[in-house]
Amino acid sequence: VHLKTLTIRGFKSFASATTFEFEPGVTAVVGPNGSGKSNVVDALAWVMGEQGAKQLRGGKMEDVIFAGTTARAPLGRAHVALTIDNSDNALPIEYSEVTISRTLFRTGGSEYSINGNACRLLDIQELLSDSGLGREMHVIVGQGQLDRVLHATPEERRGFIEEASGILKHRRRREKAVRKLDAMQTNLHRVEDLTKEIR
Ligand code: ATP
Repeated sequence: VHLKTLTIRGFKSFASATTFEFEPGVTAVVGPNGSGKSNVVDALAWVMGEQGAKQLRGGKMEDVIFAGTTARAPLGRAHVALTIDNSDNALPIEYSEVTISRTLFRTGGSEYSINGNACRLLDIQELLSDSGLGREMHVIVGQGQLDRVLHATPEERRGFIEEASGILKHRRRREKAVRKLDAMQTNLHRVEDLTKEIR
């Protein structure tokens, strides 16, 4: 799957419509601190269906709408559109190019679309879910996270991989089961001792 363009309008610090074009290969966004680099990543997560305000570094969802500056009045809506190259049919839809969009109005409502057709958030989440782009997939690596991975001990690194692949919850369940089994074993020994005493 290749991301082609990301268009942001009224989302966080991007008051005017701004379009990013991603060429194949690595894209770097550079700029001084606080200039809005992380907001680009937030826009990407948001259009792909992120529902947590905290994941978007805000208190409530409405915080993603451009709040205004001394030079510019607040806006009434945030809009983000993402165009994905689907020539490899990674997304289960009969189009070689797919544009998903999300709009949030300050008055409360939301609109979603796939190739210009209005849809539900769930439709977007389902479209992306098996592509490796879904919001639960670990495609967006936040600031500081890379550092943690690079400096992790082999055990910690294994933990990251297990978490990403969904193994961790099974490991936790296994540990819990083993603890229960141990406790049972102790009880069983106790019962055996008691029956000996009774005989
Ligand atoms: P750093 O490298 O320090 O993370 P950055 O370039 O990634 O910086 P961001 O954290 O993406 O910067 O951007 C923060 C900027 O976005 C701040 O100036 C903040 O005021 C602005 N901002 C965030 N939300 C809104 C909003 N709803 N309306 C207007 N501006 C916003």
